[in-house]
Amino acid sequence: MTIDDWSEFDPATRAVRAGHVRTQEWENSEPIFATSSFCFSSAGEAAESFAGNRSGNVYSRFTNPTVRAFERRLAALEGGSCCVATGSGMAAILSTCLALLSSGDHIISSTGVFGATTSLFNNYLSKLGIDTTWVSPTDPRRWREALRPETKILYLETPTNPLTEIADIRAIADIAHAHGALLVVDNCFCTPALQRPFEFGADIVIHSATKYLDGQGRCIGGAVVGDEETVGEKVFGFLRTAGPCMSPFNAWVFLKGLETLELRMQAHCAHAFELAQWLASHSAVARVHYPGLEDHPQHELARRQQSAFGGIVSFEVVGGQPAAWHVIDHTRLLSITANLGDAKTTVTHPASTTHGRLAPEQRAAAGIDDGLIRVSAGLESVRDIRADLARGLDSL
Ligand SMILES: *Cc1c(COP(=O)(O)O)cnc(C)c1O
Repeated sequence: MTIDDWSEFDPATRAVRAGHVRTQEWENSEPIFATSSFCFSSAGEAAESFAGNRSGNVYSRFTNPTVRAFERRLAALEGGSCCVATGSGMAAILSTCLALLSSGDHIISSTGVFGATTSLFNNYLSKLGIDTTWVSPTDPRRWREALRPETKILYLETPTNPLTEIADIRAIADIAHAHGALLVVDNCFCTPALQRPFEFGADIVIHSATKYLDGQGRCIGGAVVGDEETVGEKVFGFLRTAGPCMSPFNAWVFLKGLETLELRMQAHCAHAFELAQWLASHSAVARVHYPGLEDHPQHELARRQQSAFGGIVSFEVVGGQPAAWHVIDHTRLLSITANLGDAKTTVTHPASTTHGRLAPEQRAAAGIDDGLIRVSAGLESVRDIRADLARGLDSL
């Protein structure tokens, strides 16, 4: 029997089973459909398919069963009715914007978004006459003040990277809806295992599947989740025409990643929490940014909005960039890389990498201290991760 409606099942069950429809081979694990096109039994059937009068596969730019299985599984996890998979997280953001916006439209975006998202809005959408106003993720009043008649999208990430600030999704969704605009939430840091933005009024959820959905740092991919009209028709329509699609192989990796998402996220969160508490007590650490700590400014909001506090911890060491580099360069185990959401713990110096292209004043305004280090807690033993960071911290 095939299950079409996954709403009666718990998220952990959906993560393992939703989306896959067995072929006539009756396989247990999801197959990879490595084919660019699909055949028809007659010229008439081909004509009907191309005219859109017949469902079924046509061409893997827009219909591939492995990709569709991933889309259905992620939609079932987020609680959206439609999902469109894309070649990267950035392709998901671009596809959403180009599908839904026209020249003259206006975006209000949180300042705390991924660096390439900032560049996309400022350097590329601006060329098409789409303007962006930047506001603080933690001050909903600023969002209301920034509204213009032509505002169509409010855009945010929560928690933010790398400072783990928490935006109030419900409050900002209400501002968007009172104005007839859409709230788009990039749910990369939490994944549906920790936070489901639709429950707080978001209209569209974006993913970089590259991070926790894969979970082992193998493939680049993305997704847009939402309803039939905005995502199923408009974003899908853009994707089928413009072509920033996901490969079947990558979709298969992400499908398998989703099966262990809940378990992995629990471990990432537990490790990050333990690291955050230890770092907060270390004399070489001036400040720790982690929503699970009671002195985090939006600790209560994080508690309401998320089921756990996430796998990313940032901290400022006393002594600026030389001290931060000292700590990073004394690790032996951790991966010095900007990626996150991996089984392998990664360590990054944002001021000289992900935020290195900002002018020093802009970095200061964004709260990125030169002594800031971001850690994406992996699945190694937390004792070993701590010992690797302690080598540099203890010798400062
Ligand atoms: C990595 C990332 C993206 C971009 O995703 P890619 O798959 O690298 O294109 C977007 N948003 C967030 C929060 C990210 O961390």
